[in-house]
Amino acid sequence: MSEGTIQPDRPQVRTGDTPDLFSKFDPVIAMREGLLASGVEDPFSLVMEKVLSPTRAICNGRETILLGTYNYMGMTFDPDVVEAGKQALADFGSGTTGSRVLNGTYQGHRDVEDALREFYDMDHAMVFSTGYQANLGIISTIAGKGDYIVLDIDSHASIWDGCKLGDAEIVPFKHNDIEAMEKRLRRIPEGAGKLVILEGVYSMLGDIAPLAEMVAVAKKYGAMVLVDEAHSMGFIGDNGRGVVEQAGVMDDVDFIIGTFSKSVGTVGGFCVSNHPKFEILRLVCRPYVFTASLPPSVVATASTSIRKLMQGSNKRAHLWENSKTLHQGLKDLGFQLGTDTAQSAIVAVIMPDLERGAGMWEALINEGLYVNLARPPATPANMTLLRCSLCAEHSEEEVHTILGMFERAGKAVGII
Ligand code: PMP
Repeated sequence: MSEGTIQPDRPQVRTGDTPDLFSKFDPVIAMREGLLASGVEDPFSLVMEKVLSPTRAICNGRETILLGTYNYMGMTFDPDVVEAGKQALADFGSGTTGSRVLNGTYQGHRDVEDALREFYDMDHAMVFSTGYQANLGIISTIAGKGDYIVLDIDSHASIWDGCKLGDAEIVPFKHNDIEAMEKRLRRIPEGAGKLVILEGVYSMLGDIAPLAEMVAVAKKYGAMVLVDEAHSMGFIGDNGRGVVEQAGVMDDVDFIIGTFSKSVGTVGGFCVSNHPKFEILRLVCRPYVFTASLPPSVVATASTSIRKLMQGSNKRAHLWENSKTLHQGLKDLGFQLGTDTAQSAIVAVIMPDLERGAGMWEALINEGLYVNLARPPATPANMTLLRCSLCAEHSEEEVHTILGMFERAGKAVGII
C-alpha cells in the first residue's frame, strides 16, 4: 500500500463529537484518490532510482531525461563542487549539531557568506538552512505588528508564511500589476513601515516581474524592497545576479533572497543586503537562531558552486538558447504556454484539467521524460501545468528529442 493511502478498516481515534482534525484534508484525499482511480501513475511519488547527471536519471528502471528540476546551471555533478563536499565531509564531519549563533558557525559558513558577498557585490550575506527559512526569517523579523507588507498575489508559499509569522498587515496586489501595487502603497497610513515583496521570476508560469518600474514606485512611497531571486540566480543578468541586475535596480533593492537548491545545486538559503544594520538580524531572526546550521559539506559545495557561477557566462548563453528553442518548439506544436516568449529557464505548458494533465505527465514519463505536474494551490488561477525547467547541461539535440516526446505524447492524449 502506497504512502498516504486511506485504510478504511482501521478505527479512527475520536471521542464523542470531537471533530477529526484530518477532516479538513478530505478534498485533497478525494482529489488524489480520484486521480489514481483513473488508472494513471501517481505523478507525486516518482522515485529517482539513480541519478546519472544533472539531466539524466533512472526512473521506473528506465533512463529518463530530466526536465523538471531546478538544476538550472547543472552544478550538482561539477567535479570541483563534488570534491569540495567530500573534502569538507572528511575534514569537518557530517554535521554541525548546532545553531549558527552557538557552535554551528564553521569556517565554511563564513566562506559561503564571503562567496555570496562577492557574487552580488554587496556588504552583507546571511545563510539559512533553506530558502524557505530565509523568507520566513527575514520577512517575519523585519516586518512586524503595525508594519505593512505589499506583495504580489502569486508570491511563493514561503513569502506568505513569513508574512503570517511576522504579524504585519498584508496587502496583496494583482500579479505583476504596477498600478495595483501603487494603489495599495498610496493607501498605507503616513508614517507606517512598508515592505514591498516581489520575485524576479515567478516559478509557476516562468514569467518575470517588471522590476524597474515596480522598484521605482516602491521607492517613491518610501517602502523597503525585498526581491526573491530563487529562480534567476546564476542565470539571469550579465553576472547571474538575477532579474534585479537585468533590470538595473541592484542599488535600489534592500534585500535579495535566494536559495542554494536551484542554480547552486545543493541546499540552503540566503539574504544579501547593503543595509548598515543588517548584521543585527543574526541575533533576532528566529528561523536563523533556533535551528541547526547547514552541514560543512553543503556549505563547501555551495561556496565552490557560487564562485564557479561567477564565470558562468557561456553556460548562461547556452541555457537561454535551450529555453528559447523549447519555448518556440512547443508553441509551434500548438501547446498553450504560460508566457508569450521565453522569459526564464521555466517553460510552463497549460493543461486543460488535472486529469488530462496527469495523463500527459504519464505519457511523457513513458516516453522517458520527466516534467513537473503542478496544480492548485501552488498554481495561479486554478491552473494545471506541466512545468518544464531547462538546464545548461541539456544539449541542443536533447531539446529536440524533448520536443519529439511532447509531440507524440500530446497527440496520444489529445491535447494537440
Ligand atoms: N522562493 C521561491 C520563489 C521558491 O520557488 C522556493 C522553492 N521552490 C523557495 C523560495 C524556497 O527555496 P528552498 O528550496 O531553498 O527552501
